[in-house]
Amino acid sequence: MAALLRVVNPEVGMISPRTRERMVATLRAAGIENERVLTAMAQVPRHLFVAEALASRAYEPVSLPIGWGQTISQPLIVARMLAALLDSGEPQRVLEIGTGSAYQTALFAALGMEVFSIERVEGLHIAAKELLQRLQIPTVHLRLGDGSCGWEELAPFNAVVFTAAVPCALPPLFHQLVPGGCLLMPQADVADEQRLKLYRWNGQDAEEEDLGGCRFVPLLSGTVNQKDHIGA
Ligand code: SAH
Repeated sequence: MAALLRVVNPEVGMISPRTRERMVATLRAAGIENERVLTAMAQVPRHLFVAEALASRAYEPVSLPIGWGQTISQPLIVARMLAALLDSGEPQRVLEIGTGSAYQTALFAALGMEVFSIERVEGLHIAAKELLQRLQIPTVHLRLGDGSCGWEELAPFNAVVFTAAVPCALPPLFHQLVPGGCLLMPQADVADEQRLKLYRWNGQDAEEEDLGGCRFVPLLSGTVNQKDHIGA
């Protein structure tokens, strides 16, 4: 975390740390109690994960466009997901499906996790790679591809986290978890009603916890290459 802040400090002048502190106060008021989550979110400069034109809105309680029809998740849902993950045990190796802006990826790393993150849109994957390198976050491994089937070669993980809504028909990736690991995902029913679900896997069965309603972009198949979407 210290390295992260040292590198970005020259760039954060225009957005004062007080703006981030206000975001954290809002999260606290909304019921987020995990101090480690709040500290990490007070430190990771969310405005660097959106386009410059949207930087001044980065700390508002909303999701924002990041290009290619995708969005950076709003701070409260990110905080809820991180808190649920930490409360489920301290995951060391985390598989994230849907890197997007890499904001949540950077937060996993800031919380001491080794992150393996897959993104299907090449433009987002490349931008995420450049930003995380610039921020000198070493514990992140990014891959371009369709993450619906996880990352078999590098399994097992302590946690698998989807940041796009998973259709209820898709078989869950329990086989890529260690016993005692958890699967966190927005799950969509046939009418696209979405619930954030946490599954605790004991090696044979999964115990399900419903963490409430949510709204995510859908999990899609295949990849989108730069040449397919010039100027997206
Ligand atoms: N946590 C991210 C969320 C981004 S939105 C953030 O806050 O920025 C969800 C992301 O999932 C999008 O970038 C989308 O392109 C990606 N995605 C959707 N389906 C996918 C799939 N099958 N494999 C990998 N990434 C996928």
